Parts: sequence; structure tokens; C-alpha cells
Amino acid sequence: MPKKLRIATLGIHHETNTFASNKTTMAEFERSGLQTYAVQRGQQYYDMHKSAQTSMAGFIQASEKHNFELVPLIFAATDPAGTISKEVFNTIGGEALEMLESQGPFDAILINQMGAAVSEEYPDMDGELARRVRTIVGPDVPVAMTLDLHANVSKLMAEVTDALVIYKTNPHIDAIPRAHDACDLVVRMATENWRPAKWLEQPPMVVGIFQHDTRDMPMKAVIDDLESVLRLPGIVGGSIGQGYPWSDVYENGLSCYVLHEDSIDKAKKAAQWIARRAWSNRKYLYKPVGPSPSEAVGYALTQAALKSKKPGPIVLLDVGDNIGAGSSGDSTFLLSEALKQNARSWLQTIRDPEAIDMCIKAGIGKSITVNIGGKADSLHGKPVELTGRITRMSDGRFEDGGTVHAGWRFFDAGTTVVIESNEGPTVALVTSRVGNMSREQFYSLGYRPEDFDIVVAKGVVSPRPAYQPIASEMVTVNTPGATSGDMSTFRYKHLRKSLYPLDLNAQYAHD
Ligand SMILES: [Zn+2]
Repeated sequence: MPKKLRIATLGIHHETNTFASNKTTMAEFERSGLQTYAVQRGQQYYDMHKSAQTSMAGFIQASEKHNFELVPLIFAATDPAGTISKEVFNTIGGEALEMLESQGPFDAILINQMGAAVSEEYPDMDGELARRVRTIVGPDVPVAMTLDLHANVSKLMAEVTDALVIYKTNPHIDAIPRAHDACDLVVRMATENWRPAKWLEQPPMVVGIFQHDTRDMPMKAVIDDLESVLRLPGIVGGSIGQGYPWSDVYENGLSCYVLHEDSIDKAKKAAQWIARRAWSNRKYLYKPVGPSPSEAVGYALTQAALKSKKPGPIVLLDVGDNIGAGSSGDSTFLLSEALKQNARSWLQTIRDPEAIDMCIKAGIGKSITVNIGGKADSLHGKPVELTGRITRMSDGRFEDGGTVHAGWRFFDAGTTVVIESNEGPTVALVTSRVGNMSREQFYSLGYRPEDFDIVVAKGVVSPRPAYQPIASEMVTVNTPGATSGDMSTFRYKHLRKSLYPLDLNAQYAHD
């Protein structure tokens, strides 16, 4: 009987918004809103994912399917935020690499990354981690790296790994099948002494955040093209990196990556075909459109008043305060507009530990006047004064076993307090930045978004799996903030010299 393969997995999962004011330090890796333990080692890494829908859940399933021994080393993930400190990379990365060395040898490695991590020292932190993994295991051990669709893929990542495997859906609901793809590839590499031929093609263009939903045109066309390529004879894998617009790094932008059985030329031809077609659609793939906060609130109030309105709340997507992309979670642009326009039936979260402290001191059931939000930085509006009754206090933990963006399950928003304001809006004040990607966030507090006319979800695509099923309409609002959809509002310094749309005359050599 052939020897059972031993395959290690490790990862430091982070989406870094280099424009965000909140740096990602060791303290951020002590707790995470996305999972109960921000850093998981060994069996804990296994246990925290087995029943989730994450990439690791897929590795676990694949280890049963292929009968390999999956060795969980370490996995660290925390909420998207600003640049990662040098200390984080040295400490957690150092521990990961030390485990890889001391617990080896392994027959293959699965690196579980997000793909848009930027540290103080390494603008391509994912590539640097993969490079160090390769140095430890040597050239002969197959290495695959799974990535989020928002990865800013680098040449280094493609060079030092044998396969990159990226989610194909946004909202991200295919982490498990993509993890299976990665495992299928490394198992074949480890048992057949084979390596795929790979090609990374990067047309000089950015996909705008408003166009990121893979279920809608024009992004759907890019994924459809990938699917056509994946059906070609000899093609054994392929991925699109949608890119993450708020990282000021050279790799920012679209990536088209193809694996062929044995021909680099054929991998290249297929990747360039996808890239050329995306390039010809670049004007449609970047459009910062959408109503302003005042237009959106006015529209939602008019719609909510209509008798003929479909059931369910109007969900306003707060693009500029996209927590899942690294913003502060305390933007008040929409809330202040709600007060101005006298919106009564309104539900949302605001991150504000200071206001929570005041509420705790006042006590549950009591009335309070408090300034909330707009405190983290100068990008997300001014604090808003609310007067109301404190109706709930909770530890902020909630669990969602349903379909959630990227498959996260065990959430932790930290101490949470709800205020039902005299002005109208009901606001859940949260301690940590948890994206509004699960309705359980409100159910766990005793509130049903279904019972409100207007609900704010801070995000663009990640809240959709949770809110689309109950919303009468989803409105993407062009709010300012650290995750504004308008790239011209940021000062980039490290991008490729000529990149569409920052350079409208950018040229693509293989056009
Ligand atoms: Zn993503």
C-alpha cells in the first residue's frame, strides 16, 4: 500500500487597506470579529473550521476524500484593516515557519492566504511568506496557495508556488470547492511527480468595487471566460484575481492565471485570451456609480412609503465604510442623513467602544444622550448625537451556520449595546469591526432586520448573501470613506506606472 501523504497547512489571512488609519498590530491578532480565536494552532485550527465553510473546511474534506494526513500548523486571521506591523510578520510568520521546519518533512504544503496582505516590511507579504515556505521545503515539495478573489496576485506568489487557487465567486461562497481543487492538484503532484505549467497574466487595469459581484455583468463575463478556458483540453486549473483596490502596492489590479497539463504556451494563450477580453471591457469594469447618502436615504424613504412596495427592508450598502475591506465601521454619513430626513424605522451598527462604556455605566433600560460614531479618523463623518433607551447588552458573539461570505461561522463583535433612539433609528453599538455579513448579528440581539423599513449594511458585496433574501431592494450608496469606490479620491504611490482607470490612456501590450 502506498504511504499516506502528510500535507501541512498554514496561513496568515489578511486583507490590508493601506489607506485605513487603524494599523494591524499584534493586538489585532489577539481577537478577531471573524472567528473566535484570531490565531489558531494545531488541533484548534482544525476544530474551528471543521463545521465552517472556509478553505480549511475544504482541506479537511479533501483529506478524507484523498486519505491524506492533514497537519494543521497555524492559521491567523483578523479583520481587514491597515498595514500589518513588522512584529506580526516576524512573530506569527516566524512561528509558522518554525512549525513547518520542526514538524516536517511534508509531502505537500497548503498555504491558506487571503492574498492582499501588506506589512511594513513586505508590500507583498503573501508572496514573502510563500517564498520562505519554499525555501524551507525546497524545490521538490508541491506547494499550493489558496486565495480570496480580492487577492492582488504577485509574480512572486506565482513563481514560488506550484499552483494558486482563488475563489471564483463574490460574494465568496465557494471556499470549499476551491480548497478541493487545490488539494486535488497537490495530491496529484505529490503522487505522480508532475507539475502543471503555469502562466500569470496581468492586464494593467483595476476592477471597480461597484463591479465586483460575480453574479452580475460585467464581472460575470470575466468569470464566464475563465469557465470556458477551464473546459479546454489540457487546462488543469485557472483563477481570476479580482484585485483589492485599497492596497497601494505594485500588484494592485486584475490577474488571470492558468495552469496547463504541460504547455506554458497553452497556459499563456488561455490567460491572455481572458485578459484581452477583460481589457476590452475595462470601461465597464470600473465605474464608481451610485446615489449619494442624501439621495439614497431620500429614495429609501419614498420607496418605504409606497403601498405597493415589496415586503422587506430597503438595504443601504455603505460602500465607503466597508468593514470587510478595512474601514473603521463607525461612519455616520448615512445615520446623520437618516436624522436629517427623519427616517424612523432604521436599523444599523456603529462601532463605538467609548459610547458603549457610557451606556454600560447608565445601565440597561435607562435613557441616555450620547455621541456615537465618527471617532476613529477623519474619513467617516462626525459623531452623531442620539437620545434614547438602552434596550440590550450582549457579549457580541453570534454564530451563523448558513451561507456566509467566505464561510466564516463564529463571529465576535465584542460588547454590544442597542439604543432605540427617540429620533427613530435603532443602533447596535459594537466594540469590534465585524462586517454586516450575517443577519444573526441582529437576531442574536433580539431584533429582526425584516421588521425595519431601512437597514444599513456596511459593505458592498459581502452583506448580500445575508440581506438579499429578505430585502425588498439593495441600494449601493456612494459614501465617502477609507473604502470609497472612487479610486481618484486616494493618493497612490506604488502602483504600476500606468494602470487603468488612474491612467485613462494605459496600454496593454497584448491587446
Ligand atoms: Zn474577498
